[in-house]
Amino acid sequence: MNSQVTFASLALAEPILRAIGEAGYTHPTPIQAQAIPQVLSGRDLLAAAQTGTGKTAGFTLPLLHMLAATHTHPHPPGRPRCLILTPTRELAAQVEESVQTYGKHLPLTSLVMFGGVNINPQIAALKKRVDILVATPGRLLDHVGQRTLDLSGVEFLVLDEADRMLDMGFIRDIRKVLALLPKKRQNLLFSATFSDEIRELAHGLLHDPATVEVAARNTTAERVDQAVYMVGQKQKRELLAHLIKEKQWFQALVFTRTKHGANKLAEYLTKHGIDSAAIHGNKSQAARTRALAQFKDGSLPVLVATDIAARGLDIDQLPQVVNFELPNVPEDYVHRIGRTGRAGAAGNAISLVDGEEIKLLTAIERLIKRRLDRAEAADFVPSAGAEAAHDADHQRPPMPRRGGGRQGEGRAQASAGNARGGERQPGKPRNGAPAGRAPQRVRGEVDGNRAPRSNEGTREVNGNRAPQPRPDVNGNRANPAPRRPAPRAALFAAKPATPKG
Ligand code: AMP
Repeated sequence: MNSQVTFASLALAEPILRAIGEAGYTHPTPIQAQAIPQVLSGRDLLAAAQTGTGKTAGFTLPLLHMLAATHTHPHPPGRPRCLILTPTRELAAQVEESVQTYGKHLPLTSLVMFGGVNINPQIAALKKRVDILVATPGRLLDHVGQRTLDLSGVEFLVLDEADRMLDMGFIRDIRKVLALLPKKRQNLLFSATFSDEIRELAHGLLHDPATVEVAARNTTAERVDQAVYMVGQKQKRELLAHLIKEKQWFQALVFTRTKHGANKLAEYLTKHGIDSAAIHGNKSQAARTRALAQFKDGSLPVLVATDIAARGLDIDQLPQVVNFELPNVPEDYVHRIGRTGRAGAAGNAISLVDGEEIKLLTAIERLIKRRLDRAEAADFVPSAGAEAAHDADHQRPPMPRRGGGRQGEGRAQASAGNARGGERQPGKPRNGAPAGRAPQRVRGEVDGNRAPRSNEGTREVNGNRAPQPRPDVNGNRANPAPRRPAPRAALFAAKPATPKG
């Protein structure tokens, strides 16, 4: 938060200030204090900010203000005035959730659309008024193709996490969308990093933009303890299980390079008494939502994720991040580490590094301009059968791709059509929102069904010698992996996040 500036001093409309107060925010975060006046002045904006800085409210609040100020009746259906593009479904859902929260006392409507869910409820919702549309590019273009969406009335465009959209190969889709928008509009571009590609996009898109920056480029949070364990690929999962148990990690986000690797690791950990779930682009929306909710409420101690799936997840201030494999792209290390140690809270990040990943480690250390501490798990003794068990479980070992490429998840969400679950209900008002006034929206699936937990019968099959809890009389583990709820300290409460230059 920024103690000098108050929300009231930012001249936002009273219904917005009321909603902010109800959300429990007392002061704007640095990105909000800087971005809101610029957006309200009508300028294009280039903002360097990561998830966790409060960037969403940084663009949502002024946009709501301006949209409400020029709100008219009647308005043609399916013709949004504001378009917010995001790289992932999770981010789209979270952004639209914010629109709902901050706009709940305004007569504006919003809609979220992404692939991987049935398109029909979205089509039905587009037959009504939609002021603010939050979308992933692929599904947006599907609607344009079906002529269910009219983009000719867009006055405000936001590209959120633009760097990730480019990483995910959305540049052509973005250009197609841009070509469909009216020329006269206000553009806001948010990105955590600034590659040449982003600069090129910004150059073509933004006119005389104001720039705001709250996170230094390519630096890792100062209060994150980072260490590297040198360990063979085949012993990694055993070491990870050992560390989770020994160090009693109760909320760890584990990054793997591939979706296959994420699945295998989550299965392995669960089999060894550590509840965990994998989250990636091949999972149904329902499974992703469920895993995330459980991880956030502390009932699921380990979430295994690929970079792309993890991006945009609203999970901040994590106590523990684990790089099960180093990312191919060094900047992703910075993103991953950024999940912990936010807003004044101390964090911890470890990387398990195999001999073949030394080059990646060197590239990361060069980027962050420091050598990472080498740690040793003194009492860890790999079991004799670990390699054979690993090989049996990984008959198709995931191969790192050369040249900094990523395992493509990008179009999965956009092109999956209605093959996956996640049927949505249009137009349901949110809990506690005044009926008929709160923005209507297509709601995400929150079906409350829990995935079957497979922590029964978790006896070792491979002679693992890592400390194992003994089964009780029912065959359940007497002392499974630590399961205490995560303390969710209020964001920005501990210490003001200092703007970095
Ligand atoms: P974002 O970076 O937009 O993903 O926001 C990260 C988190 O910060 C979200 O959970 C927001 O609800 C929260 N947040 C945003 N603005 C503020 C604020 N001014 N004070 C406290 N929390 C905030």
